[in-house]
Amino acid sequence: MAENLNLFTSTQNVIKEALTKLGYTEEMYELLKEPLRMLTVRIPVRMDDGSTKVFTGYRAQHNDAAGPSKGGVRFHPDVNEEEVKALAMWMTLKAGIVDLPYGGGKGGVVCDPRQMSMGEVERLSRGYVRAISQMVGPTKDIPAPDVYTNSQIMAWMMDEYSRIREFDSPAFITGKPLVLGGSHGREKATAEGVTICIKEAAKKRGIDIEGARIVIQGFGNAGSFLSKFLHDAGAKVIGISDAYGALHDPNGLDIDYLLDRRDSFGTITTLFDNTITNQELLEVDCDILVPAAISNQITGENAANIKASIVVEAANGPTTLEATKILTERGILLVPDVLASSGGVTVSYFEWVQNNQGYYWTEEEVGEKLHTTLINAFNNIYETAQTRGVNMRLAAYMVGVRRTAEASKFRGWV
Ligand code: GLU
Repeated sequence: MAENLNLFTSTQNVIKEALTKLGYTEEMYELLKEPLRMLTVRIPVRMDDGSTKVFTGYRAQHNDAAGPSKGGVRFHPDVNEEEVKALAMWMTLKAGIVDLPYGGGKGGVVCDPRQMSMGEVERLSRGYVRAISQMVGPTKDIPAPDVYTNSQIMAWMMDEYSRIREFDSPAFITGKPLVLGGSHGREKATAEGVTICIKEAAKKRGIDIEGARIVIQGFGNAGSFLSKFLHDAGAKVIGISDAYGALHDPNGLDIDYLLDRRDSFGTITTLFDNTITNQELLEVDCDILVPAAISNQITGENAANIKASIVVEAANGPTTLEATKILTERGILLVPDVLASSGGVTVSYFEWVQNNQGYYWTEEEVGEKLHTTLINAFNNIYETAQTRGVNMRLAAYMVGVRRTAEASKFRGWV
């Protein structure tokens, strides 16, 4: 039978398993098996050559029983309705794992910002906000950055929303530049969270981070900061990649040089001749493998060839359920996406709290709070996995879904 690569149905399967383990009824699964709301919009944008192009966008709200919906907006040619739904459900899990008063939300626009001018991206960003403005807001649904969106795009979106509402609304969106009410530490938060998970996982497996051989697939926001943090912590980053290929050096790569030369989308390998493929990179001999790019990278096809003893998912959905089973049977410690990548939404929450109170924290305060939150989340899930005899992915779903399930119950929805 062909392997299930559908992110939406795989997510549903694990949510169902988690709810059953927690003793919830079938009705709870009926409520949580897909988003409560899903808006599809078409956004006309005036292009630089004078023509008009109509883009398709989405915003999904999984469940807002525990609080407003929260989650990023991605600009990518592969965005589709099912993926946005799955990503919204993952946001519910992430918020539950780090115990934030949110439900999951997610948005996306089918486009390729790498082929667009700044002006076109700005008009698209503003058009997207106008199209979804009825559905979002500081106490309803709070967007944030995701794949190929950044603080500049958040600034345009915040400005557009503020114009529509006719008052300054920094709490409408997170991941903003500092001068517009952004939080210290937000940009590197996802990578910080992944680093904390890597260090905790290494402790459990008796691996010393100093000298540990690490492979990172992806050199975008998460992958690039991550390579820097691990390099600075004394680890040997022996492989990195971008959408076009991968670089591998068993003696360690010159991370500072690569960071200096990468473009704003994380492209770097096009500058080199001696590249390998992304698939080859995953099978390289190393201690810790961090898929930080796109989904369905470790599958039933290659899971048996993974050499790392720890896999930490910095991307959303990089490992299929079949691969999860194979890695678990092989004794590889797999730290799931919904835990490892929850640092971003954690600091987004801090940003939103600061916006709501109009009082801003120092970088140290944010860093400390993030550390405590992530270390507790990791150990909570690790212990759940041990005591319930389940893998870390199922344990993470069990911890993650509980807050929304309980909130739904108290509201009388189930
Ligand atoms: N897009 C990020 C994620 O998938 C961050 C979401 C947020 O900050 O709300 O976790």
